[in-house]
Amino acid sequence: MATATEKVTSPQVRQTECFIGGKWLSSASGKTFETLHPATEEVIAEVAEGDRADVDLAVDAAREQFDGGEWSRMDARDRGLLMYRFADLLEEEVEELAALETLDNGKPIADARAADIPLVIDCIRYYAGWADKIQGSTVPVRGDYFCYTQREPVGVIGQIIPWNFPALMAAWKWAPALAAGCTMVTKPAEQTPLTCLRMARIAQKAGIPDGVINVVPGYGPTAGAAIVEHPGVDKIAFTGELATAKIIQRAAADTMKRLTFELGGKSPNVIFADADLDAAAEGAHFALYFNQGQCCCAGSRLFVEDKVHDELVDRLIEKNKDRRLGDPFDPETEQGPQIDQDQFDKILKYIEYGNEDGASCVSGGERYGDRGLFIKPTLFTGVTDEMRIARDEIFGPVLSVLKFSEVDELVQRANNTNFGLAAAVWTRDVAKAHRFASQVRAGTVWVNCYDVFDAAAPFGGFKQSGMGRELGEAGLAAYTESKTVTVSLG
Ligand code: ADP
Repeated sequence: MATATEKVTSPQVRQTECFIGGKWLSSASGKTFETLHPATEEVIAEVAEGDRADVDLAVDAAREQFDGGEWSRMDARDRGLLMYRFADLLEEEVEELAALETLDNGKPIADARAADIPLVIDCIRYYAGWADKIQGSTVPVRGDYFCYTQREPVGVIGQIIPWNFPALMAAWKWAPALAAGCTMVTKPAEQTPLTCLRMARIAQKAGIPDGVINVVPGYGPTAGAAIVEHPGVDKIAFTGELATAKIIQRAAADTMKRLTFELGGKSPNVIFADADLDAAAEGAHFALYFNQGQCCCAGSRLFVEDKVHDELVDRLIEKNKDRRLGDPFDPETEQGPQIDQDQFDKILKYIEYGNEDGASCVSGGERYGDRGLFIKPTLFTGVTDEMRIARDEIFGPVLSVLKFSEVDELVQRANNTNFGLAAAVWTRDVAKAHRFASQVRAGTVWVNCYDVFDAAAPFGGFKQSGMGRELGEAGLAAYTESKTVTVSLG
């Protein structure tokens, strides 16, 4: 028997090919790409590099299953039961999946075990419960007619997944699609294809019919674009960068695909002087540094009321000093490496911008060690609204602290961004918290907490942070079409 540690530091990489119609296939071109462990930059595996021909096959498989297969016609309750079974089998492999996620993404094993994989399972169970509760309504129309609506699956869904929460973002898209009776073609991010492929195998073991879930690993402008352009795909669900979403929206216009987007952010996290400062400091630290700062909803603009600014900054500096960086497989590690060289370089460039623009770097500000893509938790004070580190999404462990004194001015500053994904407020004054929650233009507002996610609670962006919602009932609705049926009673 392997010990727990042996078991997690050497996950088996078992699936590296395209998963199409229930079969594991090399890419049509025969090409592969490397996926790396970001802590050592060593190659983990060669993965099939899917492209247009593979996407064609995958869409055919998904189309055939949707148009003529059993999935969307199955009793909805049985569909739910298969999803519960899928969740149970994932649960049997929590350790292995968490380790695979850490290997491919570099995130600390403690996070993968406590957050990513349990949230995947919870999301699938949550939507399994919805499968037989997707209902229409009767509509009181004028005249001698009986009118009702029913909800039907949208069809074949193209799902394009980012690398920051590879398994979880796949689950957010698979679970409602499965419950609704859709079939799907999924493209994991090129940096992190492994857990998605493993999950597809587990879904097959659970008895989810072949052709329901298809996975084509590969790059965005090739495999991803082929999914977006394919006339056999009815909807695209995308999580990633705003710039990519704009390309996708244009390309999807030709076939009028349904779209849901979950994009970036520059989320304001506001600490009032009357807050519980211990909790607020802990929350502000977590809000930004969790997942190496690679969260679309990261609390990257920290607004602190002037009266408590210095005290709070001192606490944040202490927390950064205590933060444990290193081998993501060490269960004590709190911060792993950034995902890849491009992101690493971009973050260091933004640290330079912060210095150039006149902010004070009071913690971190450089790489950690000389191997792997680690960056020290970095804190800038004296940040003003127009600085690049206050405006742009950095997607790394760089926190900008901005001072405020007037509430009205604060709300206007918090909203002075094209993003609107999340916001948070720390105060003991209930009225102040609710007032801020109603005035801030963001899809999610946390009060005296941060990054609290639940499969039942909708998540998505205002403004250029997204379109539509994932999770909850709203997330399910995005995978259904409403049909109105009118029957003459004459
Ligand atoms: P990041 O720069 O953080 O990797 P992206 O938006 O580029 O964010 O990537 C998110 C996902 O979108 C990945 O799966 C990527 O391969 C995919 N992608 C990138 N470009 C395109 C594109 N032109 N069409 C479709 N998918 C794309």
